[in-house]
Amino acid sequence: MEILRTPGEARQYVSSLAPGRRSVGLVPTMGALHAGHLSLVQMSRDRCDATIATIFVNPTQFGPNEDLEKYPRTLERDLELLGAEGVAAVFTPESNAMYPEGFSTFVQPPSVAEPLEGVCRPGHFRGVATVVLKLFHAVPATHAFFGRKDYQQLKVIEAMTRDLGLAIEIIPGDTIREVDGLALSSRNRYLDQAERERALLIRAALAKTEAAVLGGEREIDNLESMMRETLNPAGAADTRDVDAHRVDTRGVDKIDYAVVVDAETLEPIRQLDRRAVALIAAHVGQTRLIDNQVLTDSA
Ligand code: AMP
Repeated sequence: MEILRTPGEARQYVSSLAPGRRSVGLVPTMGALHAGHLSLVQMSRDRCDATIATIFVNPTQFGPNEDLEKYPRTLERDLELLGAEGVAAVFTPESNAMYPEGFSTFVQPPSVAEPLEGVCRPGHFRGVATVVLKLFHAVPATHAFFGRKDYQQLKVIEAMTRDLGLAIEIIPGDTIREVDGLALSSRNRYLDQAERERALLIRAALAKTEAAVLGGEREIDNLESMMRETLNPAGAADTRDVDAHRVDTRGVDKIDYAVVVDAETLEPIRQLDRRAVALIAAHVGQTRLIDNQVLTDSA
């Protein structure tokens, strides 16, 4: 497995691949790898002649009060995992190789970047779109693999690829979960046991919404109320002090959003009369978690 440190090295490596290796799959990550990342690697290996993973904790997508400094970095273990998966190369640049002195050009992200994460994390998708475009250029792959776990990010990258006419196919991968339903995330390691239990409310809220749609519910207001109630069960705050055993069921600490929106534009809708997606961002302790569930009107 080749370790590539600069965009120049990465480009040279891709152009040196044997002519038989026509399709090249790119799997961009920020490291601290888990089975979700590895499922994207496996999809790429199934589909492409060569797979290149990237590990880069991109500073431009973190806000000033976010977890850039403490974001988990486990490079040695990540390289072992990628080696075992048989990737051809890993591109893992230093920050100054991606953002040299004087760097000042950014991608203005598409309109699907504006709501939800766009409101909660201003500048986040500007950083994501910029780094992804730079990664696509450094590693001229034919296919790039992104998880549905980061649903809005996937839509942003699809729109950017379409709008800028990039010669790369974006392939989405399903969300990989723990057996109890918690979506795998590098940030799950921040959760203590009690928080880990409360984090399950996110999946529970999405599952309830999906079940309600299957049962015929079409009113978005009703679906969104149900999600909020599941995330923060009414009255739980009153029982918290009197019954210590209830502490873990008191709900999440803060809901950034819990909405059902158009699955393509992420714009608000009133009725479930098209493909939609339920999206949640919530804080449990100090940790911000996101998850989602696609809903169809024929469900
Ligand atoms: P990250 O390292 O968090 O930037 O994620 C890198 C890629 O892995 C992104 O395309 C994510 O959407 C994807 N990913 C993260 N968590 C999961 C998961 N639980 N299942 C599938 N893909 C995931």
